[in-house]
Amino acid sequence: MQKIANYIAGKLLPPASGEYIDNIDPAIGKVYSHTPDSDERDIGQAVQAAQRAFPVWSAKTAGQRAAYLYRLSSLIDANIEKLALAESVDNGKPLALALAVDIPRASQNFHFFASAIEQFASESHATSERVLNYTLRKPIGIAGCISPWNLPLYLFSWKIAPALAAGNCVIAKPSEITPMTAFLLSELCIEAGFPGGVLNIVHGLGHKVGAAITAHSDIGVISFTGGTRTGAEIARTTAPTFKKVSLELGGKNPTLIFADCQYDDMLDTTLRSSFTNQGQICLCGSRIFVERAVYAKFKQDFVARTRELTVCDPLEPESRLGAVVSQQHIEKILSYIELAKEEGGTILCGGERVQLTGRCKNGFFVAPTVIEGLDAHCRTNQEEIFGPVVTIMPFEGEDEALKLANSTEYGLAATVWTENLSRAHRLGSELQAGVVWVNCWLLRDLRTPFGGTKSSGVGREGGDEALRFFTEPKNVCIKF
Ligand code: NDP
Repeated sequence: MQKIANYIAGKLLPPASGEYIDNIDPAIGKVYSHTPDSDERDIGQAVQAAQRAFPVWSAKTAGQRAAYLYRLSSLIDANIEKLALAESVDNGKPLALALAVDIPRASQNFHFFASAIEQFASESHATSERVLNYTLRKPIGIAGCISPWNLPLYLFSWKIAPALAAGNCVIAKPSEITPMTAFLLSELCIEAGFPGGVLNIVHGLGHKVGAAITAHSDIGVISFTGGTRTGAEIARTTAPTFKKVSLELGGKNPTLIFADCQYDDMLDTTLRSSFTNQGQICLCGSRIFVERAVYAKFKQDFVARTRELTVCDPLEPESRLGAVVSQQHIEKILSYIELAKEEGGTILCGGERVQLTGRCKNGFFVAPTVIEGLDAHCRTNQEEIFGPVVTIMPFEGEDEALKLANSTEYGLAATVWTENLSRAHRLGSELQAGVVWVNCWLLRDLRTPFGGTKSSGVGREGGDEALRFFTEPKNVCIKF
């Protein structure tokens, strides 16, 4: 059985503990590889390697660093099938999705930030004819990047790429639940000729390796994507050391459907925004509010289309929904469906575990589930389920829609369907979310700021925001 290795100082190494964690294929419910159970000793080693590498890496020109990232991007492209298969097996997501979205996006992340650092400029302010201020943006030093299991390589590279481009050395930890593509990336870094210690990938558990990264006094900046509770713990750990921190956290995103929308486009896209990746995307819309005039029609059509979604072996080409990521996670999702019933919800479709036969008979599959009849303030509608479960609720008029949409502690993303331009602008301005999509969903431009408000996070990444985050601005004022 394959043993994954850490990538430290340019070498593939076993963990200091010599211990490994079982890595499970969620589609078959069985252990298929082993992940290093690393600890603070491995992080200590990685920090030393990064410290040795930093003076040389940070002194390279933007173009020289970009060349490494372009090379890595090309190697990801050249290995797309191997990486997509690994992602699908590790995570349970349909292979077709990993091929079309996850791996191409990981490649784009490196390509985009290679190009972005070559364009990156800082400000200058002429105070008077004889006084000039200019801002230097220097790399911070060692960046800690911690990412979750839902979009493994996609989100891992989203953090690593800007951190490296800006001249930092990186210590990165993927989720221990989905470590495989991060391991394959370390092999590609070796092939790309990355100098040892520039990027270090240390595998293991959040409370050991993750906590060792966030607590380490020589790591100056932390970029974290994951759950809100973990984010709060990281905020507590890092506050006394004044590390720079970016937290991209959970969501409970609203989809607002107005009667005047382009109905067919809305229906197709709402199906995707509800159930892509088994609903395990932080940007999925899990609370669907529908204007009363089209509620009955939407309910009928949406439920009919949801029933048609094929839940099957993620390696099958027709798979629209694969397995959810783990035994623990399927139990969480099913417990929320039970809660929804206790809270008075009616299950319109789904609502149960799907039992497949053959290879996947022990896999973690959940039928896409649509629930109605719940109050917007009940726990089902307030807490993040992070599975293929959505609620639908009617509303009357824009004011009520806005109030309902903003009625959770979260504020990550929102989607609005309307042909009324003024309404689109009003809601774009008033919705409490870091990202608002109008008449589309998950249409991403990597130059735009990305992140959440309220309990969905602190800080923004993406484009120049990410390059600013991973650098320290310093103003130099010259009188001449
Ligand atoms: P977790 O918060 O459980 O874990 C995220 C990462 O943090 C993992 O690598 C985890 O390791 C690690 N970790 C856990 N505890 C600590 C700790 N004390 N210190 C440092 N690191 C730690 O999230 P999930 O992996 O369950 O991911 C799902 C969550 O991520 C959802 O809430 C989702 O909304 C959110 N998310 C947010 C996005 C956004 O852009 N805002 C995008 C995608 C997901 P380990 O796996 O070993 O526990």
